[in-house]
Formats: sequence, C-alpha cells, structure tokens
Amino acid sequence: MNNNLTDKVAIVSGGSRGIGRDIVLTLARQGCHVAFGYVRNDEAAGRLAEEVRGLGVRCAASRVDVTDFEAVKEWCTGVKEEFGTFHYLVNNAGIIDDKPLMMMSREQWQRVIDTNLTGMFNLTRHCIVTLMKQKFGSIVNISSVSGVMGLPGQTNYSASKGGMNAFTKALAQEVARTQVRVNAVAPGFIETDIVSHFSPEKIEEIEKLIPLRRIGRPADVSGCVAYLLGGQARYVTGQVIVIDGGLSLR
Ligand code: NAP
Repeated sequence: MNNNLTDKVAIVSGGSRGIGRDIVLTLARQGCHVAFGYVRNDEAAGRLAEEVRGLGVRCAASRVDVTDFEAVKEWCTGVKEEFGTFHYLVNNAGIIDDKPLMMMSREQWQRVIDTNLTGMFNLTRHCIVTLMKQKFGSIVNISSVSGVMGLPGQTNYSASKGGMNAFTKALAQEVARTQVRVNAVAPGFIETDIVSHFSPEKIEEIEKLIPLRRIGRPADVSGCVAYLLGGQARYVTGQVIVIDGGLSLR
C-alpha cells in the first residue's frame, strides 16, 4: 500500500545529525519535501540539504533553537510561505545531560527539560492550527525508552521523555476529530553521536542487556516514523511505540 508521503511537506527538528538525519532522508526517499532545523552544525546541515535535493525533492535547512518560542514561530511561518503548507511534524531535537540527581545542577535539569519537552511544545504549538484547519496531518514525537521505564542517572531526561509521552496521548485526543494523528516512538540505545562517546566496555555491557543483542541503528527508528506519519497508520493515534530490541521487557 502507498504510504502517501509523496509531494507532502514535513518539518523535522534536529534533522542535521543522528536519528533526525535518517528521518529526513527516509522521508525524502519517499518523495516528501522536508524543512529541517538544527542548532549549531551548519556544515552537517548544508551537506544534508544538498543530499536531499539530489533525491529530487525540495529541502530547506534552518538554524533554529527549539527552546526559542518566537524563533520557532518565525520558522513555521517561513516554511508555510516557502512550501505553501506542511503536513507532517517530527519533534526530534533532543539532548541528554546525565547525572545522579544528588549531583544534578538546576541548569542541567532545566536545559534538558527546555530542549526536549518545551522544545516539542513550542514547535507543536506553532504547527497545530495549520494541521487542524486543513484536516490533514500527522505528528511523531521522538521520545525514549527512558521515558517509559525510567533510567538511573537520567531523572531530567526520563522526566522530559515521560512528559512527551503523556503530551502525545493528550494531544491525540484533542485533535482526533480533525483527523490529525499524534504518536511517539521510544527508541532504546541507537548508534548516534549521543552514544558515540561510550567506551567499548560500556557498549558490550549495554548489548548484554538487550534481548536482540545489538545497539539499534537510526534506520531502525526512521522506518517506524515514516509508517506513523503516513497513510498506512491512518487508524493509529495516541501511541508510544517502543523500538529498543526488547530492552524494556527485562
Ligand atoms: P544527536 O545525534 O545528538 O542529534 C541531535 C540533533 O538535535 C542535532 O540535529 C542537533 O542539532 C539538534 N538539536 C540539539 N539541540 C537543539 C536545539 N536546542 N534546537 C534545535 N535543534 C537541536 O541526537 P540523536 O541521538 O539523533 O537523538 C535524536 C532524538 O532521539 C533525541 O530526541 C533523543 O533524545 C532521541 N533518542 C536518542 C537515542 C539514542 O540512543 N541516540 C535513544 C532514545 C531517544 P546540531 O547538529 O546543530 O547540534
């Protein structure tokens, strides 16, 4: 069945690297035009935008900090002007800053909440009316297994991702009458810059905990995101799909 992404427009936050980059490429390969954001890595963003245009779709890369409510508003308005409208939103931008709670500073708490949770609010708030008015659209929030099971050393991150999961379920019910769908994916450990600083010993230790015995790849996540955005998931809303090789079953 056609997943209906062709000639639609997607906004993806944090698209320059890691999981977001793979989501951008996966959508583009299915014929979807993409406007993606990033915060500092101009070079990676520029390279990706060229690669996406080479796939025959339109692409705009914008340097926008998702924590900045007004800047995000300007971004969404700009995407509408450039592309006519947008149909899909992927809230992917996110950070970690792990510390046991007894040593966590107020800044570490706030930065993670501001980026992961408030960043999602900012972007969704500026997109939702357009999606509701056109009675067509789909949102996927990139959460984490940490927000489902809670992981030690990640009280800030777990709280932000748990908040994203609850937001997803609440918003799905608010907008369902307009046929707009809202879902989340909750990845486990995925090979990106976030895990690249782990030592080989730590990786081995993690892999032992995962029933499928490997760390995930960005493509393990992006395929599910494309499915949830598109027509094949037209009867799926308010769900948090865990993509963790079975880690959370333990
Ligand atoms: P990553 O490789 O570190 O990339 C993060 C992306 O977010 C980059 O494009 C970065 O832009 C952007 N970003 C960071 N802060 C931002 C801000 N304030 N405003 C706008 N963009 C911002 O991360 P990743 O591993 O792909 O993670 C992507 C998402 O998946 C995150 O929400 C993360 O929590 C979630 N996740 C990851 C894993 C994992 O194991 N990797 C597991 C579960 C969930 P620049 O390139 O400009 O810095």
